[in-house]
Amino acid sequence: MKFLGPTRPGAWTLGHTRAGAPSWGKGIIRTDMNWRKNFRPIPILVLVLAARSHLDAQASQPNGGVRIGSLPRSWQVSGPQCGENPQFQIQEYNPDLYIFRESGCSNYEKPFLYLLFGKEKALLLDTGAGTTDLARALKTQVDAWLKRNNRDSIPLIAAHTHSHGDHISGDQQLKSLSFVTVVEPKTSAVETFFGFRNWPTEVVTYDLGNRVLDIIAIPGHEGSSIAVYDRQTGILFTGDTLYPGRLYVEDGLAFALSVQRLVDFTQGKIVTHILGNHIEQARTPYLDYPIGTVYQPDEHELELGRAHLLELNDALRGMKGRVVRMAFRDFTIWPE
Ligand SMILES: [Zn+2]
Ligand SMILES: [Zn+2]
Repeated sequence: MKFLGPTRPGAWTLGHTRAGAPSWGKGIIRTDMNWRKNFRPIPILVLVLAARSHLDAQASQPNGGVRIGSLPRSWQVSGPQCGENPQFQIQEYNPDLYIFRESGCSNYEKPFLYLLFGKEKALLLDTGAGTTDLARALKTQVDAWLKRNNRDSIPLIAAHTHSHGDHISGDQQLKSLSFVTVVEPKTSAVETFFGFRNWPTEVVTYDLGNRVLDIIAIPGHEGSSIAVYDRQTGILFTGDTLYPGRLYVEDGLAFALSVQRLVDFTQGKIVTHILGNHIEQARTPYLDYPIGTVYQPDEHELELGRAHLLELNDALRGMKGRVVRMAFRDFTIWPE
């Protein structure tokens, strides 16, 4: 449910009813023949502002505004047979953004890791699940980037979308790499590193050098969860808070507030993709793969859009703080 403008009875509202049908609030359509006499400029102004704010996630024209990249049609790293597969499938989204998809043969969680390069620093979001040779795979990728950019070194920050075990397993081995700084996966360390003074309501920025990231605190799935918005590509990284799969909710109230903050934050911004950390959904609507599945030959694409965020927010608002299990076409809300 999304109301734009004041919601008092008879006020100027434009939005959707709970059932999803478009509705116009009272007062929008006036058939009063004396309208000129009754004309009041303020409601019109509100209507104009409401119409403007309805331009969610827009650009002034196609092909404008963000640096583009590509995602694979499907991820092929987990089978059908284990043995020959590498531990990670690495997708070059563009020359300064790489997506690592961990193989289900290494760990059934099959998480995604994201490597972003700026002019001064690189950021790795998450370090994966189970036991892998992440340090080697990461160093190979960083060395290739350095060579391509005629550079000798770049400092790398390894931070986390949140502190669950399937996103931090590579931390220890990365600490052995001299160019890596690992942010400890706990709320106090995340607050200190990124400079939060008002967790979780404040949005802070972190600059990789000519590449500004917005860091949004989104506790609810887990207390130290963050989302990262990359202004360069328009990608919003949402960790385990929104992805095509089971959205486990630890703290329902915090989760709902966090999703609302993501909606508010992305209002008026370009959102090219929402990229989370897992795929558990099949391409078949409302169908997911059971926990522990290694090979998912018909899995949903990784990328979601802002419409999914609005759908999630709409559902949570309808639940009014009492989060219940509810399946949607591309994800399921799943209180723990
Ligand atoms: Zn998690
Ligand atoms: Zn996870």
